[in-house]
Amino acid sequence: MKSAVYPGSFDPVTYGHIDIIKRAARMFDQVTVAVLDNKAKTALFSVEERVRMLQKVTEDIPNVRVDSFNGLLVNYAARENLHVAIRGLRAVTDFEYELQIAQTNRLLSKGALDTIFLTTSLQYAYLSSSSVKEIAMFDGDISMCVPPYIEEKIREKLKAGR
Ligand code: ADP
Repeated sequence: MKSAVYPGSFDPVTYGHIDIIKRAARMFDQVTVAVLDNKAKTALFSVEERVRMLQKVTEDIPNVRVDSFNGLLVNYAARENLHVAIRGLRAVTDFEYELQIAQTNRLLSKGALDTIFLTTSLQYAYLSSSSVKEIAMFDGDISMCVPPYIEEKIREKLKAGR
């Protein structure tokens, strides 16, 4: 069985992430979307909330499962017996950072974890979780960035914080 892990912060999941998940799910028998519990980054949503939101927006894709992990991706991947990581590339600015992570993961895992890059679909090239949060904070329209369910969760969260 060909499996892959798609790791990230997903704070929150956007149409850009969903596009990568759908395309990866066509290439692999199983795709594990893994939410990184990164204590160093302050997130809008808790890991549990991000997992739930991802589960909801991927519920119609049978070969996608959602999980979370702490610490190094290579250790999580080894535990889960996953050998391919998927990452998305939007622009050259992503490339340098992503290349460094991919090389480091291959080195740390002694070749056990390789990374595959999917280039963004052009209509989502501008899209990032941080820009979605920023637009929402100023009551801008985010309907072209996230599914209605996620939009609702963002609005609820921002209202609670005000
Ligand atoms: P991280 O904090 O690990 O970068 P993100 O949730 O921001 O986590 O992104 C996870 C992955 O999804 C990264 O590989 C990122 O480049 C990719 N990604 C994010 N937004 C898009 C998009 N609009 N199109 C394609 N890939 C994307």
